[in-house]
Amino acid sequence: MGLRPNLLTRRTAGVATSTLALLLSTAAVGVVPAASAFSAAPAGVCAEPADAHGHADARVAKGGHPRLDPNQLTAQQVREREADLAAAQRERANFRTGPTVAPLASVTIPVVVHVIQENSTRAGGNIPDSLINQQITVLNQSYAGSTGGAATAFAFQLTKINRVTNPSWYPIVQGSSAERSMKTSLRTGGKNTLNIYLGELSDSLLGWATFPKRTLDKMDGVVVLNESLPGGTATNYNQGDTGTHEVGHWLNLYHTFQGGCSGSGDSVSDTPAEASPAYQCPTGRDTCSTAGKDPITNFMDYTYDSCMYQFTAGQASRMLTAWNAYRAA
Ligand SMILES: [Zn+2]
Repeated sequence: MGLRPNLLTRRTAGVATSTLALLLSTAAVGVVPAASAFSAAPAGVCAEPADAHGHADARVAKGGHPRLDPNQLTAQQVREREADLAAAQRERANFRTGPTVAPLASVTIPVVVHVIQENSTRAGGNIPDSLINQQITVLNQSYAGSTGGAATAFAFQLTKINRVTNPSWYPIVQGSSAERSMKTSLRTGGKNTLNIYLGELSDSLLGWATFPKRTLDKMDGVVVLNESLPGGTATNYNQGDTGTHEVGHWLNLYHTFQGGCSGSGDSVSDTPAEASPAYQCPTGRDTCSTAGKDPITNFMDYTYDSCMYQFTAGQASRMLTAWNAYRAA
């Protein structure tokens, strides 16, 4: 289930390096009015047609800039994150001296959904509650392994839908002061609370997420294109797997193509190495000489929602480790 777009991560000045973003071509989505501000990509941002099919030469915007993949961390950033995870684990181990603070084996995550609206129309962001409920169902199915992957420790419980009409926050612009203002005003709960922000997004993005940190950060959370929810209008990306993918980052997963064919890749041993993102739903893709074909059905790749349906046991383990290091109360 679930497919993903040509999600490319952007690295924009002023955007935290821990921010992940998915790029969705406006051509693929149809939810973006042709006259909208983002029918033309801002300078330096390379929009990619959803039909790019992964050809290297297709990953170039009409403006001619080869696109930097924003979700792709540098090797140095990965080293820093892995060192931080180890440090967070040591910190927790020193804390946890008694049985009452044993690491959790299963987790129900409270979810607060902030629906950012420009006005009361559907085009203005007024997504019905039914789609939000279906998104929670998709998260629960995906993380339970019931779509075909490994079961993870995580379940999701919707605790609140918070509707906010504020044209200055719509669309949600990645890395903007408006995004910071929105999250600072709206984020609720502790590090264990998943805050999801829904709206039209800047630059044809499908979504972005923050990785876990040791301290509570008001920017913490997941931003998802409203029409990517199950039943939304984002063609090929409307089965809710953008939400699943972004929450994967929030739980400390990298992309399956992180690091390409060499080194520790995505720091998960049972996801075969992959040289670059896969788009649409390719057959037999195998971009690295190491064992295993590309994990195109993994939620952390960039394929269509209908193509992706699983996490691996290694990813499940990595997420639980990170939960106990960073987000457990
Ligand atoms: Zn991503």
